[in-house]
Amino acid sequence: MSQSELRKLPSVDKLLEADAIASLVEQHGRELTLEALRAALDGARQTVLNGEPAPEAETLIAETAHRLGDALRPSLYPVINATGVIIHTNLGRAPLSKRARQAMAQISAGYSNLEYDLQAGARGSRYVHAADLLCRLTGAEDALVVNNNASALLLTLTTLAKEREVLISRGQLVEIGGGFRIPDVMRQSGAQLIEVGTTNRTYVRDYADALHSMKTALILRVHHSNFQLTGFVHEPTLAELVGLGDEYAIPVMDDLGSGTLLDTETFGLAHEPTIQESIAAGASVVTASGDKLLGGPQAGLIVGKADLIAKLRRHPLARAVRVDKTTLVGLQATLLAYLEGKATEEIPVWRMINTPVEALARRARKWQRALKEAGTPLSVVAAESTVGGGSLPGQTLPTRALALEVPSPDALAARLRAAYPPTVARIEDDRLLLDPRTVLPEQDTALIETIRDALASNFAES
Ligand SMILES: *Cc1c(COP(=O)(O)O)cnc(C)c1O
Repeated sequence: MSQSELRKLPSVDKLLEADAIASLVEQHGRELTLEALRAALDGARQTVLNGEPAPEAETLIAETAHRLGDALRPSLYPVINATGVIIHTNLGRAPLSKRARQAMAQISAGYSNLEYDLQAGARGSRYVHAADLLCRLTGAEDALVVNNNASALLLTLTTLAKEREVLISRGQLVEIGGGFRIPDVMRQSGAQLIEVGTTNRTYVRDYADALHSMKTALILRVHHSNFQLTGFVHEPTLAELVGLGDEYAIPVMDDLGSGTLLDTETFGLAHEPTIQESIAAGASVVTASGDKLLGGPQAGLIVGKADLIAKLRRHPLARAVRVDKTTLVGLQATLLAYLEGKATEEIPVWRMINTPVEALARRARKWQRALKEAGTPLSVVAAESTVGGGSLPGQTLPTRALALEVPSPDALAARLRAAYPPTVARIEDDRLLLDPRTVLPEQDTALIETIRDALASNFAES
């Protein structure tokens, strides 16, 4: 039976004559199409050997097109974030503003004055581009933008403290996430880590006791980012550390991580230290991420004293961690929104933080109405969104989410993740929750379609 069925399968040459295959060859090239065609035929042969009838040529052609589609789909693609976690590191952190996206598209399409001084008609420096804006917004003397905050730390510590001592409180030896640990980066720089104080309590005198004016290169403060130190705790203020540093002419570096320019307190959240506060307190170098609360592209911002920033810029490692033109222009566009006082309107992260709960409730109800035929119990429930991105631990923003009650929320969540575009939801109290706060308004239609399809196939199977 299977031998005669196998003979029914068309040959590669025969299939290549089909118009549909010729058109695939035209679109995607002969090599890729042949690969997909052979894979489709192998699959068909296996089906026949399992005792099933040989598929028609049409089926084989459709299978070839399907396999080609899979092979050509980039592995990185857009996802709908319905988790309510605004700066979701696994989902790409900050979505960019329209102004930033447009600037990035424009600059990447052609040539630019990236490192060209148009007035002089000679070589210029890429580092001038976002520097003035960063100085203006933070009050710093100078600024340098690198690939990300981890590189900012590495470059700063290598340049200022290699083979010398850096004082850091035991309460600040933090792991940021993804296994990224501050002490490990410090060691990479060749700086010698001097831990001072205890996990919960560190005083200025602990730093003073550990300080050697000849060997100590830097006092480093690291923002806790993703955890809270509460109870019987003490940490010196940045100003106190700067006071100590000044006595011994030792610079103080402040690694902020999230590095906000806006005051989170005005949005009903706890206070997240701002970059301008650290500069005002006298920090010599402040480092922050471009894609956390700043709401821009992935970048590491280094702002501070002009002489130190000049040293960083000249260090060979600066070349290894240098920033791309699309990032620079995207960051610049993001910063311009702050300059114009439009951050909460334009920058998605701040727009999401600033969305009133009534607006979220309206959107959740709109989704509910659009899905009422789906045959699943749907309700709009009070829930909590979080800022994420290693900022404001324990802080939440009240939201209204669409709750779906299905027999297996895990199975539904998996279906939503398998859709295109995939939707990532969260499960709470055995219900699947979709938080409108982090779903971009233009994704509403796609989200509703995805849920409808996922619910339909859920019912088909149960
Ligand atoms: C997030 C964070 C970093 C790392 O920043 P990336 O931009 O992810 O490289 C470093 N330090 C602190 C305190 C952070 O919160």
